[in-house]
Amino acid sequence: MRRALITGINGQDGSYLAELLLAKGYEVYGVVRRSSIENSTKLINIKGILDRITIKSCSLENSLSVYKLFQEIKPDECYHLAASSFVSYSLEDDMSIMANNFTTTHNILLSAMDVCPNCHIYFAGSSEIFGNVTEYPQNENTPYNPRSVYGISKMSSHCLVKNYRERYGLFACTGFTYNHESPRRGRSFVTRKITSAVAAISLGRQQYVELGNIEARRDWGYAPEYVEAMYKMLQAQKADDYVIATGHLQTIRNLLEIAFGYVNLDYRDYVRINEKFVRPDESVPLVGDYGKIQKELDWKPELSFKDMIEEMVECDLRILRES
Ligand code: GDP
Repeated sequence: MRRALITGINGQDGSYLAELLLAKGYEVYGVVRRSSIENSTKLINIKGILDRITIKSCSLENSLSVYKLFQEIKPDECYHLAASSFVSYSLEDDMSIMANNFTTTHNILLSAMDVCPNCHIYFAGSSEIFGNVTEYPQNENTPYNPRSVYGISKMSSHCLVKNYRERYGLFACTGFTYNHESPRRGRSFVTRKITSAVAAISLGRQQYVELGNIEARRDWGYAPEYVEAMYKMLQAQKADDYVIATGHLQTIRNLLEIAFGYVNLDYRDYVRINEKFVRPDESVPLVGDYGKIQKELDWKPELSFKDMIEEMVECDLRILRES
């Protein structure tokens, strides 16, 4: 039986990936923070599979803990998804995001190389590595120009991954994922913020939703499909880096029309603009060209943006009705 280790298994991607790997017959191990084990609401995404996976609490910042974890599990595949994922522009958060994301990736690469050098490793990169782009769509050759410390931490970790691959022959690769959403997306992200607000408004439990720039655009994909891309990357003949994206841009205005339209409401009656949520200018949009992964690994996005948003509203309605 193949063994997979997933860091950040209780997050959106980790939970979908765990389900995918279980369905493929893997023995699945997941790493979470000790505080998550003590607070069961943090394990909500994996509640349904807890009896089929093994959860380990491990501080990924601690190299010895990571080393021992690798010694114990000796995984065939490791998906490193855990990260401080908040795109912050605040100086106070900078050092901890940087140190955390870089150190954890380094600990994993180092342990794998020493304990199980045949382990295939996926690193969760991000379109934020491309950051302030001058061209679109972006592909694997687009210059890196991160605009946030989160992006810088992902870029430097990706460089480390590439270095371990090229210098030591480790099967380690980075997925440059663009935004990907689902009913399990955190509520601070704009898709889920809107779909949960739409559900609450349509059930009379909320009056309005406050947003920043509703002309902002993103390349939004469907998380369950993105974890399939991650899986495919680790089954490939050779380790390589891939852009995982839809190639389509949507505005928040489109998102609002679809989400409110689903419950027969007009978004203009319920949206208020609050400067607090307006981000620095993003003149050239981040939109990814998934041509390489389509050609080499036969992956492409399937679910439409509309179907995804409607599924999210439907799930948020169900959650509220059951609460
Ligand atoms: P990320 O910034 O790409 O990680 O994802 P978000 O879901 O947080 O934001 C996506 C886009 O929505 C960005 O361009 C934001 O500027 C824009 N946006 C507009 N209003 C809001 C808001 O109220 N909350 C958030 N999170 N984003 C907003």
